[in-house]
Amino acid sequence: MDIRKELIKNLFYLKEIGLQAIPISEAIKKLLQQEVPLEEDSLFSLQNKVLRCVKCTLHRVRKGVVWGEGPTEPNGLMIISEYPDRDEDFYGKPFIGEVGNLLERMLAAINLKRESFFITHAVKCKTPGGRPPEQEEIEACKPHLLKQIKHLKPKLILALGFTPPKVLLDGKNLTLVRGKIFKLKEINIFFTYHPSFVLKNPGIKRAVWEDLQKFRKFYEEMFLAS
Ligand code: SF4
Repeated sequence: MDIRKELIKNLFYLKEIGLQAIPISEAIKKLLQQEVPLEEDSLFSLQNKVLRCVKCTLHRVRKGVVWGEGPTEPNGLMIISEYPDRDEDFYGKPFIGEVGNLLERMLAAINLKRESFFITHAVKCKTPGGRPPEQEEIEACKPHLLKQIKHLKPKLILALGFTPPKVLLDGKNLTLVRGKIFKLKEINIFFTYHPSFVLKNPGIKRAVWEDLQKFRKFYEEMFLAS
């Protein structure tokens, strides 16, 4: 069953990046033809819906929806980034290349690894020329993120960049909320700058370092306190 799910997920991705047909064996055909219903209200069925989403005009400029990746067990860690850049759109994965390397270094500085987080974006399709998403695009994509959070049930979220507070804190500006923890029902969300913003503005490194130290403290209180 898990193999079938994984296969369907990969086929959806290949379709999203423009592949019209791939040769498959008889055994795979049989596996795909099995009448196994997808649970209606599951993370997997949500992923299938989101990968085909055309709710806003960003679907016209993307290669594919970037759903996210990482562990899906409840009570874990989650990163919410801004919106896919060109490379993330191309590879269908969050945090590619230099920006991904910096994220890994930022996390390593507080003894954490990217593999410990489910990583996704606040808005799941790239924008024309990498501009920030517009309000109607944010509103269209918000239910996807909220449902993703509902299914994943993370204990602590690290939100990176200017878009997550626009989505999760009713349009608040990052500069007013960074370095602080907010509650979304039972879930704790911590806001700071995005690694790509740090690359363009090295002067904010110290502020980000201080934020990360605070995030580490929250992490220890929530995950390591006996
Ligand atoms: Fe759908 Fe979100 Fe992509 Fe818009 S940005 S098409 S709402 S997945």
